[in-house]
Order: sequence, then structure tokens, then C-alpha cells
Amino acid sequence: MKAIRFDGDNVALAEIPVPVIAGESLVRVVAVGVCNTDLEIVRGYAGFRGTLGHEFVGVVESSPDPSWIGARVVGEINCGCGSCARCAAGDPRHCSDRTVLGIVNRDGAMAEYVSLPERNLLRVPDCVSDDRAIFVEPLAAACEILHQVAIDDSTTVALIGDGKLGLLIGQVLATTGARLTAYGRHRSKLAVLETKGATVRLSSDGHEDVRGAFDVVVEASGSTSGFAMAQAIVRPRGTIVLKSTIHGDVPFDATSLIVNEVTLVGSRCGRFEWALEMLEHGVVDVESMISRRMRLDDGDAVLAAAAEPGVLKVLVEVGDERN
Ligand SMILES: [Zn+2]
Ligand SMILES: [Zn+2]
Repeated sequence: MKAIRFDGDNVALAEIPVPVIAGESLVRVVAVGVCNTDLEIVRGYAGFRGTLGHEFVGVVESSPDPSWIGARVVGEINCGCGSCARCAAGDPRHCSDRTVLGIVNRDGAMAEYVSLPERNLLRVPDCVSDDRAIFVEPLAAACEILHQVAIDDSTTVALIGDGKLGLLIGQVLATTGARLTAYGRHRSKLAVLETKGATVRLSSDGHEDVRGAFDVVVEASGSTSGFAMAQAIVRPRGTIVLKSTIHGDVPFDATSLIVNEVTLVGSRCGRFEWALEMLEHGVVDVESMISRRMRLDDGDAVLAAAAEPGVLKVLVEVGDERN
């Protein structure tokens, strides 16, 4: 089968065997999204080698449980060992022996087929198109914030970053009724958050007027300047949520965090069920975030396209079938 792979130096389309992992389900991939994490992996994040991609929708081709065969599915990306204390507690996302689809020791979904345990699979309701389904994983990551931090209509929240993940986070935050201000570099990208009731501001306009103003600041820009800004605009005893996967070190001013008693919250993957429900009910607008449609055969060009300024989601179509 064809797969887009990273060998530590280069990304290229390769011909590899269809994955056969005992006890797992084989999924024929229909579409896969390019994520910023993929771009960070190519810069060295997580030291990953293998097939890239973790935001997919596909159809189950074979499974130990035949009831899955033919089901249209998305897949939770973390695969726990199944036997440690974290896994037993129902939290395979933090199993120390986990593999992560296309990120840690497990070939990803930028391929004709992908293998996952059936416990990782979720059926996609008919009303959720393939185009929407590829957003389940990043949307779940956005929803994770609401599981970690109490946010309601009395909370003042600032979002920094108007990339793919930032725009999903902004839409999820807007569902809480929080008083949301979104900072970004592109008025055109921020427009979707304005329609959800957020105040939108350009980061370039500065933030002197909002020093120490926000209960919660979500940093999703993935830049060091974004982190510095988060520290400047969070209120004393407020919370900063770190939502970007960045390869490399991020310098920060520890003194201001300590003196102001700021809570730092790291935030990564979330549960898929809630995200699927949001897509089912049309709570978030994701279609408008698809900037380009490409094919698996485009190989490394799909990553180059996703890295271009102003490009949001690059959707990679695999095979011929479309829903
Ligand atoms: Zn992702
Ligand atoms: Zn485990």
C-alpha cells in the first residue's frame, strides 16, 4: 500500500505492506487531515519515524469482532498497554507504555490502511460527513480544556492563536457563554469566532489595555511571544492553558508566575464522544476550515501545503470512495 512516511530526515510517499497487527482492526482510510503536530514531527517533535497522520476517517475492513466490518469510523489515537494502573483507571491516554497513532511508535493514517485496536474505534453517525469527521481528533483536543478548567458565562477568557486548533478551541469556548476575546494575526481567520460572539483582536495591536485582565488565557499560537503575552494578560491567581505541541524549549518568566500565583495547565488529547456529538449537532463550523484538498499521491507536498501561511486544514483524500 501507499503511505506518506517520515524517516527522520525526509517525508516521502512509500510503498509498504498493509499493517497486520494481531488482535487489531484494519481500517481502509478514506480521508486524513494534516495537523500542526505532523509539521512539528517533521521538525523533530517526539522523535517519530514512520507513517504520519492521526486525524482520519475510514471504513473497517477486517476486525476480530465482525460487527465492526463495514462501519465508518474515527479512531482515538492513544493505545494504552491495557494492564497498567493508568489503563485500569480508564486513562490509556496517559499510559507510560502507550503508542500514539502517527506520533509515538505506531504507524499513522496517511496511508491506504491503518491498524488500531477495536476499543479505539468510534462509529461515525451518518449525518457527519467525512469532511467533518476528520476534525473529531482536534475538536476533542479543544474540548479537553473544558474538562480541565471551570469556564462558564462569568469567566473572562482570552484565546491566543488563530490557527486550526485555535479556531476550534474558540468555538468550543464560545459554547460556554464565557466572555471570550480572541487574539490572532489574521482578521479573516478570526471572523468565524466573531460570528460565535467573541471579541476579536489582532495580536499586532498590542495588549497593554488588558494586562492582568483575564481569568483564563488559552495559549494556542505555539509561539514564544504567545506564551509571554499569556503571562502578561492573565490575572493574578488566574489560569494559563498551554495547548500547543511545540518541538523545543519555551523560555518563560517563572517569577511572574510564582508572584502572581498563576496556575499552568498542560492540555493535550481529549475524549472523542463529546466532539462527535458537537459535529453531529452542528455546534461548530469546521467545513470552512478546509483550505485545500489533496491526494495521498501528493506525498510530501501535503505537508508543504499545510505549512504555507494562511492555510488552515489540508484534507488528504485516500482511495476513491467519498461520503
Ligand atoms: Zn492533530
Ligand atoms: Zn497502560
